[in-house]
Amino acid sequence: GRLPDWRAVDGLVRAAHERYRTVEDGEVADYIPILAEADPTAFGVAVVGVYGGVHEAGDAGQPFSIQSISKAFVFALVCQELGHDAVLERVGVNNTGLPFDSVIAIELHDGHPQNPMVNAGALATTALVPGTHEAERWAFIIDGLSRFAGRRLEVDEVVYESETATNQRNRAIARLLQSYGRIERESRHVVDLYTRQCSVLVTARDLATMGATLADGGTNPLTGEQVVSAEVARDTLAALAASGLYERSGEWLFEIGLPGKSGVSGGIVTIAPGKGGIGTYSPRLDSAGNSIRGQRATAYLSRSLGLNIFASD
Ligand code: GLN
Repeated sequence: GRLPDWRAVDGLVRAAHERYRTVEDGEVADYIPILAEADPTAFGVAVVGVYGGVHEAGDAGQPFSIQSISKAFVFALVCQELGHDAVLERVGVNNTGLPFDSVIAIELHDGHPQNPMVNAGALATTALVPGTHEAERWAFIIDGLSRFAGRRLEVDEVVYESETATNQRNRAIARLLQSYGRIERESRHVVDLYTRQCSVLVTARDLATMGATLADGGTNPLTGEQVVSAEVARDTLAALAASGLYERSGEWLFEIGLPGKSGVSGGIVTIAPGKGGIGTYSPRLDSAGNSIRGQRATAYLSRSLGLNIFASD
């Protein structure tokens, strides 16, 4: 099946925004100091169809740092380079059942990071980015993320500095992985690349486009560019289904029935395979670090657009 016709999708995107814009549950992240300054009332919803239609409501054009959502797309880019088996062996695809910044999850599995959607696995993934020097590795990441978005993306230097000044925990995780031989490069370079990838500015509209690219077998429906192969897109969605919303991934799948990925700045990207991508932005988070309005708006869209991949009709 496809998405309903253009007007129907447009109306439902507006309705999703209207229904949840007054929800005030949750807290804005503050462990990265600059994130605490986000406007808690900001709320954007966007849908991009694989046929290229763009639908949006509210603050869908407001930029924010991508944070953990970068993990999904850098994982896809690295899979494209290294292939299914190498990534499975190095990073894994099982849910940790623990928060995204857990150190215990690493220790419980003899230094194996378990999955690319939590910090340990994302650091291990970023450590696999090809290149002979840091500038080349960074170009691989920013060029790839930009191809997913269909426009040139940039780093928010203020977010990058704020996180660099306070990311002791990620530095510790990277060192721990290095001690287990799971990161073979100088760990502080890996943390720096990772911090930079998390500081890339996107909008809800960008997230919807990036999601639509994965939904469309790796081809960006707005630019027509093949960013990753259909096999890589498929594998990335499987990894997202298992772990995209951290330890709440089961509840998310039960309510929404689609692969998705959240980030602590308040974004969520959701993918309806073969149909399109949903992007939401709202900074108030639940205790796992997932946007509350984003989850509600996405659940509404999944139901009203008939997107649940487990449904038989
Ligand atoms: N840059 C953030 C961190 O590493 C990303 C975490 C997230 O979005 N959950 O802590």
